[in-house]
Amino acid sequence: MEETAAKPRRSGGGGRQCCICHERRPALKRPKTLEQICRECFYAVFEEEIHQVIVENQLFKPGERIGIGASGGKDSTVLAYVLSELNKRHNYGLDLFLLSVDEGITGYRDDSLETVKRNEVQYGLPLKIVSYKDLYGWTMDEIVKMIGLKNNCTFCGVFRRQALDRGAALLKVDKLATGHNADDIAETVLLNILRGDIARLSRCTSITTGEDGPIPRCKPFKYSYEKEIVMYAYFKKLDYFSTECIYSPNAYRGFAREFIKDLERIRPRAILDIIKSGEDFRIATSTKMPEQGTCERCGYISSQKWCKACVLLEGLNRGMPKLGIGRSRGLNSNQMKTDKPTSRTKSIESKQCGSLDF
Ligand code: SF4
Repeated sequence: MEETAAKPRRSGGGGRQCCICHERRPALKRPKTLEQICRECFYAVFEEEIHQVIVENQLFKPGERIGIGASGGKDSTVLAYVLSELNKRHNYGLDLFLLSVDEGITGYRDDSLETVKRNEVQYGLPLKIVSYKDLYGWTMDEIVKMIGLKNNCTFCGVFRRQALDRGAALLKVDKLATGHNADDIAETVLLNILRGDIARLSRCTSITTGEDGPIPRCKPFKYSYEKEIVMYAYFKKLDYFSTECIYSPNAYRGFAREFIKDLERIRPRAILDIIKSGEDFRIATSTKMPEQGTCERCGYISSQKWCKACVLLEGLNRGMPKLGIGRSRGLNSNQMKTDKPTSRTKSIESKQCGSLDF
């Protein structure tokens, strides 16, 4: 990513000037570069960098239908706003849609969906909502009632991934754009290293994923800093929802997130450098990668006989929700016939929203 090279300079009257336009007074210190810039120049560089990412990585083609994963949070709200602005400004020729997932979390998702419904009107983008209740017969409230607050995000993350694909198919979109930002990606690189998850490590920095699956996904905010997204939403007075999920755990991902924030405080470039390191990893050819197939039960992509969602759902429907919790290796339809989970089935850490499973 290009970063603005101009140095701040003082005006004749002694006041500091924006280091880009050299005219207006700075309104903020840009988190990514620590430059003092005015609001107008901040909007311009923030949007232009995203435009460059889109163009250089050929994220979209003219005439494509693009679904924007919309949760009502800051990232997806800014994504919807910026994409619809850039689409008009640069004539991308895209048909944009909002796609939301209703996990059935009372007091959280019902409120955030109200925000998305307002965004639908504010930005003039058609909205489609798919719900866990309709797709799987369970809400997250019901799942948490059964399993408690451990592993709830594993269920939620797996179900959301499929729900987005199913919603995308209903909207007949060519691609999904998600609001994953640079902080999310740096955090996922670290987590995948800590977990030894080489398969995910090898693809978590890709700006477009799932090209061999039903709907490719792309991340136009791959190089956008979370702090800048928040500032942009704040200065533009965008309508977004900022409350955290009531079932959000504060586990492993939370520590990785804090670690990255500490690094960023000392050296803002650390976020981009972690992403760069993730991109430059070379996976040894001897590393066994999962083979992609389809779920025998529902036909969704899976490296096992049953996809993870079917395994989890089977556990829920049989009143044995722990059945599907653990590394997916070895969990297949033969094991599903046995009524007990094996002792080798390790518990994996819950993943919050923002995981690359989104
Ligand atoms: Fe689902 Fe995210 Fe809430 Fe976890 S934190 S239960 S993944 S909405």
